[in-house]
Amino acid sequence: MCRHLAYLGPAVSLKELILDPEHGLYRQSWAPRRQRHGTVNADGFGVGWYAGDDPVPARYRRDIPIWNDESLPGIARVTRSGAVLAAVRSATPGMALGAAAAAPFGAGTWLFSHNGAVSGWETLQSRVSVRDMDVLSDSAVLWALTLARLRTGAEPGPALAAVIAEAEAAGAAGRFNLLLTDGTSIAATAAGDTLCYRARDGGVVIASEPGDDRPGWADVPDRHLLTAGPHGLAVAPLSDLTEGVTVP
Ligand code: GLN
Repeated sequence: MCRHLAYLGPAVSLKELILDPEHGLYRQSWAPRRQRHGTVNADGFGVGWYAGDDPVPARYRRDIPIWNDESLPGIARVTRSGAVLAAVRSATPGMALGAAAAAPFGAGTWLFSHNGAVSGWETLQSRVSVRDMDVLSDSAVLWALTLARLRTGAEPGPALAAVIAEAEAAGAAGRFNLLLTDGTSIAATAAGDTLCYRARDGGVVIASEPGDDRPGWADVPDRHLLTAGPHGLAVAPLSDLTEGVTVP
């Protein structure tokens, strides 16, 4: 399935973060090393980033393989950011195609990505507002469910955990690796697929798989939530966060 990445820390160029690492997101689009579902991630890509003190991020999404985008290398070279979320996509059969179906999804200050495939996602559609679903896909409905919880004041980590619990309680099943940021913190779930993280020059990179072979990468255990932000980094079982959560 897809590969995704988020970064929080001192400003770096998108090139350093996405294109340069030997086994980074760019290379993962055709040669991922830990991907168990699908082989290449050529069905589009997207990068979202925060600039200066503007809390609303920019998004650049295309429906072509990342290696075919002639504009990205130049944009990535001159764009620096301290908060980034990016993904390369391997579309699940039956899901919408096109740039709007590529992560990051977003609204206001939020950026979101889903790495996985979910059966029974159609049953979740009736739970979300049509306005919040730009496209028809499992990822889009998970994003709409997440956004609904964020709007009612849920914290990012508990919101992701609750969405997985809600989807599974409604009969949806599959892999739910979710990634969410507002530019000041990151929440990420490992639920069916790989997820790891590494400190990077005063910041943190969270990614589907290591971008290089240097020491320092740590795996997030399955069915766990990772949160990173000004208060540091924490990993907790998803079940700890969903105790007492009401699933509508
Ligand atoms: N199921 C999602 C899609 O079709 C995510 C795909 C993935 O993780 N490969 O876009």
